[in-house]
Amino acid sequence: MREKVDILISNTLLVTMNNERRVVPRGFVAVRDGVIVDVGVGDGREKYSSEEVIDGAKTVTVPGFISAHTHFYGALLTGSPWFGRIEPPSDFMQNLQRIWWALDVMLCHEEAYAAALIGSIMYAKSGVTNFFDNISAPNCIENILDSMEKAVNEVGLRGILSFEATQRRSIEEGVRGVRENERFIVKNNRDPKKRVKGAIYLHASFTVTDDLFKLAMEIAEKHDALIAIHTEEGLVDVYHNIERYGLRPIERMEKLGFLSPRVHLVHAVQATDEEIALIKKRGAHVAHNPMSNMLNAVGVPKIPKMLELGINVGLGDDGYIFNIFENMRAAYLIHKVWNLDPRLMTPLQVVEMATVNSAKMFHQERELGSIEPGKKADLVVIKPRTPSTPVNEKTIYAHLVNSFSSDDVDTVIVDGRFVVKEKKFVNIDLDKALEKVHRVVEKLWDRMLAEGKYQLDYLK
Ligand SMILES: [Zn+2]
Repeated sequence: MREKVDILISNTLLVTMNNERRVVPRGFVAVRDGVIVDVGVGDGREKYSSEEVIDGAKTVTVPGFISAHTHFYGALLTGSPWFGRIEPPSDFMQNLQRIWWALDVMLCHEEAYAAALIGSIMYAKSGVTNFFDNISAPNCIENILDSMEKAVNEVGLRGILSFEATQRRSIEEGVRGVRENERFIVKNNRDPKKRVKGAIYLHASFTVTDDLFKLAMEIAEKHDALIAIHTEEGLVDVYHNIERYGLRPIERMEKLGFLSPRVHLVHAVQATDEEIALIKKRGAHVAHNPMSNMLNAVGVPKIPKMLELGINVGLGDDGYIFNIFENMRAAYLIHKVWNLDPRLMTPLQVVEMATVNSAKMFHQERELGSIEPGKKADLVVIKPRTPSTPVNEKTIYAHLVNSFSSDDVDTVIVDGRFVVKEKKFVNIDLDKALEKVHRVVEKLWDRMLAEGKYQLDYLK
């Protein structure tokens, strides 16, 4: 008597990402009630029956990819006429003042919803099933995360949504930002039915006071939540902290007792060896965003060194290029050219950053990040169309990083439910969703051209 399951993926090249990094050349995954109930060799049909059997011949099944850091609202800027209006920024601070802060003051519920909708669509398309997003919208703080949650749920992804608390304009706005995060955490984090969770986000140490750091720590501890913060992305962060506190940003965080395993340091481009030692000592995590670092011309963090020390590093996109394959490729390449050393970064290290490491960052490593019995069924079936060499257990990591693309993603499953099935979105009408997003974007761009201006103020 064969056991009944909801989904059976059969005869697939199975990349488990379990502790042994086992790859099964011809394997199966059985899913019931949102959970992986069995993983084994062969087609699994002698053991299980299912109305949803995915014939996995010539496919690769991987754990759902996890994006460690993003800003969905970044997706609203592609090709914007605003870039033609402004004088091109020549450094990171100008980038914030002329682009990001000129945009974020325009954002409210409608734009947040549209951003989360298009972001979730692009993620699902490239096999990302889980993410940590951060929105900045200083003129529309309260309840904005609910508008984003709606869109993420419509597409069917899992994720973490947070509001970027900043005191660049006022002390009080930063507190309201942290409180919006707390509200969302209380609403969602303890409810096992909710796939979208909350976390605390602080913009950066050059835009938040010690008091806000302390409030964030207090609330994170109270609710057992994560806290993320942009850290040493640009030199302005380093200079501001040295000038005002006599310490570099990560040193200041150490003094405040901020660093811990619940903290994500996003970027850490300028982190010194001494600061990297502090990250290691306190068990904080790092989110690496190679394509964003290139775009913003801020430099490259010492990721190979961090990995060597055993620091947990996850892969994100920082709201630029919502495609995990391209970001994996960038993470694979950037350290080689920056350090003039082709030995740095292996394909496996990169795939780890996009799966198990990010799961660990989210404190979800017991339930996500790998394909193992008992874990939640977040799965991606890839059908490589034109592989140049055989795709097998020996070549798979090289293919994932060097040759596959989001066009090869065939089926995406979150919590045992189809989000994308044979390249078709299951829960939304894609054309209608895109139309909806584009209408919001056009209105936003018109408003930016009519009213937009540089936002020069930040915490003095
Ligand atoms: Zn960011």
